[in-house]
Amino acid sequence: MPDFTTRVLPISPDSPQPESIREAASILAGGGLVAFPTETVYGLGANALDAQAVARIFAAKGRPASDPIIVHLYDLAQLPTVAVNIPDLAYELAQQFWPGPLTLVLQRNDNLPANVSAGMATVAVRMPSHPVAVALLRAADLPIAAPSANRFARPSATTAAHVLEDLAGRIDCILDGGATVIGVESTILNLTKDQPVLLRPGGITMETLRNIIPDLQLVSKHLHEDEQGIEAPGMLYKHYSPRAELQLFNGAADVLLPAMRIRAIEQIERGKRVGFLLPDSEVASVSDLPVETVNLGATESEVSHNLFSAMRSLDQAGVDVILVHGFGQSGLGLALWDRLLRAAEGHIIEV
Ligand code: AMP
Ligand code: MG
Repeated sequence: MPDFTTRVLPISPDSPQPESIREAASILAGGGLVAFPTETVYGLGANALDAQAVARIFAAKGRPASDPIIVHLYDLAQLPTVAVNIPDLAYELAQQFWPGPLTLVLQRNDNLPANVSAGMATVAVRMPSHPVAVALLRAADLPIAAPSANRFARPSATTAAHVLEDLAGRIDCILDGGATVIGVESTILNLTKDQPVLLRPGGITMETLRNIIPDLQLVSKHLHEDEQGIEAPGMLYKHYSPRAELQLFNGAADVLLPAMRIRAIEQIERGKRVGFLLPDSEVASVSDLPVETVNLGATESEVSHNLFSAMRSLDQAGVDVILVHGFGQSGLGLALWDRLLRAAEGHIIEV
């Protein structure tokens, strides 16, 4: 791909300047690529009706053509232009959760080029709530295909600086509206099967969705383990990964930190540079070790806001190994576990 200059347009996250929005919208209308903040992570947008523009997303990210892209809308009236045979449940969920971090997989309208959905007969759709995303979608008045604005397999971008780090010279424009709030991607729900299926835990929790779909099941291949608690080989693929090797610990709270300390000391003795990702309450417990530590925050939502950015900052610090543990399997903890497990390429260190 030829290198060219990526324009960075600063924009107010609360009341986006109309001139910058118009400029970005005209880039989208012309088949270009614009990165923009959503409430989850930065998206890399292209006109979803333009197969060539969509192909540019795959090229810029180095994303395999087999990985489908979520289509973003600003108005429910756009839904029938991208999906067909829309079930009542989709409207019920949209009523409750849109705009917001819930993605629905529906039957694709043939209006949409097949490459958006990696050739599948379905399409994933969501309506973001971030004022910059809403203003851009409204000004473009097009369905916008937008995966996370990172190089394939890298941690998702939660600031414009992360987007530049991965995609400078490969995309036309970045709307820099500051750090995104939620920090992990949307929840994905498949509504094209007999039963709704949760494909990816995310910003809307499983518990919240069960208020509407009481028997909702998680069928994320990335979370599946066999009876021994070992991941099924080949089911996981590298994703959300820092350059350093991420080692994910699991076990009872009282044994986790001692085990992680032992691992850190072993790694240091082997000449490795070690980084820790820890919640606020645990940071002090490794302060005597010669390691880089990033404080993920005190609550689940702070951890979610900080996670990808923390992975990138440990990469910047040049560590070889990152030690981290999960944050439970409920609420946002489930989404955090999914991202950590994939960043660790499915390897769990049970203690
Ligand atoms: P990203 O926007 O980069 O977080 O990636 C979007 C993810 O949404 C993909 O990797 C898929 O896991 C999922 N996805 C998108 N479209 C579909 C679809 N039609 N069916 C199932 N999953 C989808
Ligand atoms: Mg992604």
